[in-house]
Amino acid sequence: MIIVKSPQELDKMRVSCRMVAEILQELSEQVAPGISTWDLDRIAEESCLKRKAKPAFKGYGGFPCSICASPNQTVVHGFATKQPLVEGDIISIDFGVLFDGFYGDSAVTLPVGNVNHEKAHLMEVTKSSLVAGIEKVAPGAYLSDISAAVQTVVEAAGYSVVIEFVGHGIGRSLHEDPQIPNYGKPGFGPKLKKGMVLAIEPMVNAGTHHVRVLSDGWTAVTQDGRPSAHFEHSVAVTETGYEILTRL
Ligand code: MG
Ligand code: MG
Repeated sequence: MIIVKSPQELDKMRVSCRMVAEILQELSEQVAPGISTWDLDRIAEESCLKRKAKPAFKGYGGFPCSICASPNQTVVHGFATKQPLVEGDIISIDFGVLFDGFYGDSAVTLPVGNVNHEKAHLMEVTKSSLVAGIEKVAPGAYLSDISAAVQTVVEAAGYSVVIEFVGHGIGRSLHEDPQIPNYGKPGFGPKLKKGMVLAIEPMVNAGTHHVRVLSDGWTAVTQDGRPSAHFEHSVAVTETGYEILTRL
């Protein structure tokens, strides 16, 4: 069942989602050769503490970190590590908080110094596919209109959408109905209604869509070792369209 949020609940979601946006911005400013994702994880936790917010991922299903840190060929759910980022890496940071009963969830992929053309283009296309998906959000639209828009942008660029991981509704739970695949034909699934909040999150591989999960049970990497990018926003359905809650 897709939970429709009241205006009061949406106000609360704006607060938690804004925190996510602010903290992700703070982390983005720190990304540079030499910093580790462990350092970024510390910064994220301290920023949560300051705001009296709870990092949403730490302890979720046993996940050990506050951020998901997924460099290069890691698709999603990477652990923060003490290994420094190096020039030419791309790093995807997925982050969420729980504040006053509501979750916010967002992700960005960032270049570490100068990156090669393939990685730069992959990030650009993944971001564009998120924008294309978000632009489909409106009352009366079909859920799969979002999925189809994402897939179209990704495949036009010659890249692959990941099948195994999908976007989701968000609210009092981190993951609510509906699941939002990044592929599909338009015109299917439930119709969107004002007050629904959707975490739309294309995960895009430069090569094959196939992924495998490492023996830690979490870290998903591309099967061909080529890079992967991930962008996510929590988006509310409004009277006339959409509101991106995790944008500053
Ligand atoms: Mg996320
Ligand atoms: Mg998410």
